[in-house]
Amino acid sequence: MTVRTPLEADWDRAPNLLDGAQRLTLTARQCDLAYWLSAVAQGTLRGRARRGHAAATPEYMREPGPLREALVLELGNRSIAEARAVRVLSHYVAAAPGIAELEFFTTQVVDEARHSMIFRGHLPELGVPADGLVAWIEEQGADYTERVLDPIAEFATSVVRDEGDFIGAVAVFTIVVEGVLAPAAELSERKWALLDPAAGEIAHGASIDEIRHLAVGSDIVREHLRRHPKYRPHLIDLIRRGRRLWDELPVEEFVMHREELFQDGMHAHADLLRDYEVFPGRKLLETTAKERYDLAERWTDDMAEVRLPYMGVPEAVELIRTAR
Ligand code: FE
Ligand code: FE
Repeated sequence: MTVRTPLEADWDRAPNLLDGAQRLTLTARQCDLAYWLSAVAQGTLRGRARRGHAAATPEYMREPGPLREALVLELGNRSIAEARAVRVLSHYVAAAPGIAELEFFTTQVVDEARHSMIFRGHLPELGVPADGLVAWIEEQGADYTERVLDPIAEFATSVVRDEGDFIGAVAVFTIVVEGVLAPAAELSERKWALLDPAAGEIAHGASIDEIRHLAVGSDIVREHLRRHPKYRPHLIDLIRRGRRLWDELPVEEFVMHREELFQDGMHAHADLLRDYEVFPGRKLLETTAKERYDLAERWTDDMAEVRLPYMGVPEAVELIRTAR
């Protein structure tokens, strides 16, 4: 007998990240260890456990040039970020108030470790030497690690470990970290789908996991606020602190550098991309680096407008809003 994979974890039927994260409700109790073992390990990951994709990478992606460099940078930095998330979220496992949260964060830790492995694993498929890969990635991403990842990881860790605020830490991770990164992940899937189907699939798989992380994180915060309304001012303050920190980080500098490389690189493949729309009505070839960056920011706002009221903090929408 085969058990059907639930819609949100099904490779072919899952909603895209933006729709899924806005519309789906999932709880930690629902997404327990048994759910993960069947829906994810034996569902989403079927046939894609090691590489995160089942597609071939075109030969031109191995040729030196801006397109390859854009993807190599993206995968390297995301691989470091995911590994850092594993270390941060391990504190969430340690601080989990109950078994439902303990099991869920255990699965999220595995998800992020797997993302790190898969992003890293695609680099040799792009011709980066497998020998010394991790050291090479760390070296390439040293600046990004120090200026972006370290501050945000230290903030999330201090909330859960030093302040002992599990719910606040879940909110920080869900709203500030994943909430802001999710649109970039969605954009990545749409950008690479045709140019490098393997990278497109890798992003797709990570997005399916992300829907779950965002939905469950939101639900944990929502349930806590419902039961402890007095927690609200503290939460708002924490979101404000998280947002302020995020605004100080030079994220744009790193993302725009990659978008500009992508911009230079994609035009060599104008034939392939001729009719391809990055979203309905907008051809990828006609977009600029800045337009794509702004698009991801707008998606961040769209998501916040749905998820924050769902959590019970509609007033935080204004704090998170990026476009003014
Ligand atoms: Fe991840
Ligand atoms: Fe995640």
